Amino acid sequence: MNKRGKDVNWSMLANASPKTKRLHLEKDDCDDRFHCPVQICKHDGFTTQRGCRKQVKSKHSWYYYFDEKPDSVQTESFDGQANNNAAADQMTVCKMRTVATFDKISNINTNFL
Ligand SMILES: [Zn+2]
Repeated sequence: MNKRGKDVNWSMLANASPKTKRLHLEKDDCDDRFHCPVQICKHDGFTTQRGCRKQVKSKHSWYYYFDEKPDSVQTESFDGQANNNAAADQMTVCKMRTVATFDKISNINTNFL
């Protein structure tokens, strides 16, 4: 599915759960396997709980923070947000210079009073 290999920091997305979800993996009585908790996953199941956990971690890391996979629009807007933050940092530098100038003026005012 998502084969772009992009590492999304799911915990940083809007609506992400503040806590990582705990996986409740139970062996299926029918086929004696652990099934991936992700509904859309087509995996047949795992013989060990460990294998199942590993698969969730590598294939569906979003599952720890969401019940349903966030759509790609959300993850792409996340990328845009990162860029905006860089621009905002530059803005802060400009504002700080302005504040420094105002500080001098207010000092003069205080002395005058
Ligand atoms: Zn899966």
